[in-house]
Amino acid sequence: MSERILVVEDEPALQETLAYNLTRQGYTVEVASDGQSAIETARRMHPDLIVLDILLPVLDGFEVCRILRQDMNTPILMLTARDNEIDRVIGLEMGADDYMTKPFSMREFLARVKAQLRRVRLIREEMDQEAGLAREIIRFGNLTLDLTRREVLLNDQPVAVKPKEFDLLLFLARHRGQVLSRELILERVWGWEFSGGSRTVDVHVRWLREKIEPDPAEPTRIVTVRGAGYRFEG
Ligand code: CA
Repeated sequence: MSERILVVEDEPALQETLAYNLTRQGYTVEVASDGQSAIETARRMHPDLIVLDILLPVLDGFEVCRILRQDMNTPILMLTARDNEIDRVIGLEMGADDYMTKPFSMREFLARVKAQLRRVRLIREEMDQEAGLAREIIRFGNLTLDLTRREVLLNDQPVAVKPKEFDLLLFLARHRGQVLSRELILERVWGWEFSGGSRTVDVHVRWLREKIEPDPAEPTRIVTVRGAGYRFEG
């Protein structure tokens, strides 16, 4: 069965171009032209990926992202008309997985789509393997990662983490003791094979530290390795 993609874009010409090119790659595509119908379509079709414009009628893309993230972890590739760092940070905070500024080349768009779908496939495969091994919980002292429920617990109390924070923590935890570069983290957690997004890693590490470090100013769990990246100590 082919992978399903929901394209949310209110400009008819761009919507048609994106849908046409994705269909030609063999994906099953549905489209929506405003925020409300985007949410309804996403809940009905359970897409493998959502391409989401930010400026939309009825509800904007940030709002759509926030609402969908309450019960879906489908990757979201956001589109914006402006190259704006604030939009990027808000989008990521709302739970978007990747971000593209218009105008973009169709080649780069298709590469990003492919990268996101590949990342999700890898996560599913790893989760299937873990389900087979019945290894659903990882513990580091008072910190627990529940893989089945995608929950983080500190002293057995749930800690509210965003889906991407969970993915990042899990990736770090699986490579405990290893120095991981920002580029590798971006590729494996965000599916970005493109440079220039390493601040995203730093922002998410900071958010995680605020939640799981005894003293976020002097981190002992997620340690910065100067000039190299990050290392999870447990
Ligand atoms: Ca728009």
